[in-house]
Amino acid sequence: MSRTPQAPSSHVPAVDVLVVGGGIIGLVTAWRAAQRGLTTALVDPEPGGGAAQVAAGMLAAVTELHYGEETLLGLNLASARRYPDFVTELTGATGQDLGYRRCGTLTVALDADDRAHLRELHALQSRSGLESEWLSGRECRRLEPMLAPGVRGGLRVDGDHQIDPRRLTSALVTACERAGVVFHRMWAERLTVVRDRARGVVASDGTELSAGQVVLAAGSLSGRLAGVPEYVLPPVRPVKGQVLRLAMPEPPPALTGPSAPFLSRTVRAVVRGSHVYLVPRENGELVVGATSEELGWDTTVTAGGVYELLRDAHELVPGITELPLVETRAGLRPGSPDNAPLLGPTELPGLLLATGHHRNGVLLTPVTGDALAHALTTGELPEEARPFAPGRFDAAALTEQPA
Ligand SMILES: Cc1cc2nc3c(=O)[nH]c(=O)nc-3n(C[C@H](O)[C@H](O)[C@H](O)COP(=O)(O)OP(=O)(O)OC[C@H]3O[C@@H](n4cnc5c(N)ncnc54)[C@H](O)[C@@H]3O)c2cc1C
Repeated sequence: MSRTPQAPSSHVPAVDVLVVGGGIIGLVTAWRAAQRGLTTALVDPEPGGGAAQVAAGMLAAVTELHYGEETLLGLNLASARRYPDFVTELTGATGQDLGYRRCGTLTVALDADDRAHLRELHALQSRSGLESEWLSGRECRRLEPMLAPGVRGGLRVDGDHQIDPRRLTSALVTACERAGVVFHRMWAERLTVVRDRARGVVASDGTELSAGQVVLAAGSLSGRLAGVPEYVLPPVRPVKGQVLRLAMPEPPPALTGPSAPFLSRTVRAVVRGSHVYLVPRENGELVVGATSEELGWDTTVTAGGVYELLRDAHELVPGITELPLVETRAGLRPGSPDNAPLLGPTELPGLLLATGHHRNGVLLTPVTGDALAHALTTGELPEEARPFAPGRFDAAALTEQPA
């Protein structure tokens, strides 16, 4: 399906779809749109940058379940189910290994309070029909011998996996190029609105990029694009996260049988109220994260952030202090008021949103690409994405909600 937009004068040929922002969400949207036969362009000074360069890549629909986020759980699970086919398709399209690892996750408790909290989480997971198994401290250590002796119990979730977000992003850039997506390596300065319809953007070099439909997928900057009318401006804010990367030792060559890796699955816990996780990759990288800070667009790596992550991770897995510290980095999650994404058409014809994915953008990549491709070709969101329509934050929708 191809529409001919009635664009203002333009130096660049018009396309069906223009995606603003080339993080994982913009890239998957552009790829899926191009696969549906829509002529597609993407504008971003550095496609493939963004929060995915920092993210841990946990695909944690179950262990990321929080009270009050049961609606989001449905979308998270829908995306988790699509991951195996998504990885096969993207790997096939690019020949690139995405570091997808079906390793499962172990969430542990270090003291009696943590254990009580984890028991409640287990009950919530069970009520939600999710698979997780309660283990004693000893059973946890049998699974992961590097865990601290003081671990009091834990939840084994075999369905929460991981992917390497940097590889995923790089593969999405390649897949977009191969599908014919045109990259404009510039900032979008302003949305062009003509006769109450989004028509494209003016780029930082003054070029007018015109399009039949515009998808705003600018991550934590999505609420800052000039020219977007106030009533459709997404309520997205930056939530800073600091992350460390360590290098795990090669397992010693075993005399008989397979030798034990440093960690064989993602391990996570809440330590003194802060979430900490250790994500072991097949290539020997160990990602330790993450802080959650409301500090605007600041991406400074601080001594305090690194200290807290190392301190908490050390309580969980004491042996980490022996490992080389390879990288420290901070990124910005695109947070929304209900921690869920804003997907699909807005009240401004021609403008769609794909933003606000907060802590789960990597997990939600497959379902977001499918939902936006559906919306771009039919004008409607598929069933599973309807609760995430941007209109839920309109003033009228908010006053209609029960107290
Ligand atoms: C520390 C940390 C850990 C995380 N861990 C996980 C995890 O384990 N699992 C998980 O699922 N998710 C995780 N996330 C969340 C995930 O990384 C994000 O939700 C996701 O990357 C957001 O992608 P995005 O494309 O929406 O935004 P971004 O990655 O922010 O990309 C937005 C892009 O838009 C571009 N842009 C902005 N404004 C403009 C403009 N005006 N013109 C042109 N381009 C523009 C930017 O250059 C950027 O490339 C984590 C995030 C952080 C920070």
